[in-house]
Amino acid sequence: MNGVEKLNRIVSSAKNIVFFGGAGVSTESGIPDFRSADGLYNEKTIYPPETILSHDFFLSKTAAFYEFYKTKMIFLHAEPNACHIKLALLEKNGPLKAVVTQNIDGLHRKAGSENVFELHGSVYRNHCVSCGKKYGVEKIIDSVGVPFCVCGGVIKPDVVLYGETLDENVVAGAIGHIGRADVLIVGGTSLGVYPAAGLCGYFNGKSLVLINKTETHLDRNADLIIRENIGEVFSRIDVQTPDLINSKGNIHEDA
Ligand code: ZN
Repeated sequence: MNGVEKLNRIVSSAKNIVFFGGAGVSTESGIPDFRSADGLYNEKTIYPPETILSHDFFLSKTAAFYEFYKTKMIFLHAEPNACHIKLALLEKNGPLKAVVTQNIDGLHRKAGSENVFELHGSVYRNHCVSCGKKYGVEKIIDSVGVPFCVCGGVIKPDVVLYGETLDENVVAGAIGHIGRADVLIVGGTSLGVYPAAGLCGYFNGKSLVLINKTETHLDRNADLIIRENIGEVFSRIDVQTPDLINSKGNIHEDA
C-alpha cells in the first residue's frame, strides 16, 4: 500500500480530522513563500522581508512597508489548488472539523472552508489604527502609498507582524480543535515557524500524518509521512459527495 492509499484508509475511518498547513499549501497556487522574496532596496539600505514585516518597521517606515506588502504579500488573483478544494469538501461532506493555517492569503475561505483558524491573520481584513474602522483589501490595493482611514488614521492589515502576538481567540480555537482531533494532517510546513510546532504538540489522537517535502522534527512521532506535492496528494483523497448523488445512487445529470 502506498502513502496515499494509507492516507485514504486513515481519512475514511476518521471521525474528527484537523488540517494544519503552512506556506507549502499556497506555493502550488503560485504564492511564493515571502521568506524567499527579495528584500526592499530603500534609501541605500537593503531590508530583508523579516525586517519589513515587523511591527517596528510598520510604525517607523510605513510607506516602505506598504511598497513591499502590496506587491509581495497580496495575491488577489491566486486560486485555491487541489489541497484547498479537497479540504473544503472534507469539511462539507466528511469528518474534517477545522483548518489551521499559517497563511494569510485567504485561499481556504475562497475554496469554501468555513471553520478556518488563520493564525497569522488575513490580507482581506484591515483596520484603522486610530478609530478601528474595518476595511477590505480593495482599500489597500486602491490607495496610492499608505492607505488612510476617513478619520485620517493609518490603516493596518489584520496580519500578525514580527514582534506582534497572535490573536488569543484564534490560538485557543486552534488548540481546542487539535486537542479533540483523532487525525491531524500537517502539510506544507517544516514546522520551524512559531507557533506551529507548539500547537501540533496538543495533538493526542490516533493518527498523525505529515505531508512535506523535507524532514520535520515531528517525523519521529508520525504514523504516516508522505514526501510528495501536497496538491497532488489531496487530489487523490476520496471524499463522498452526497449532494451530487440522488437517492438511486446516480449522479444528477444537471449537477
Ligand atoms: Zn479611522
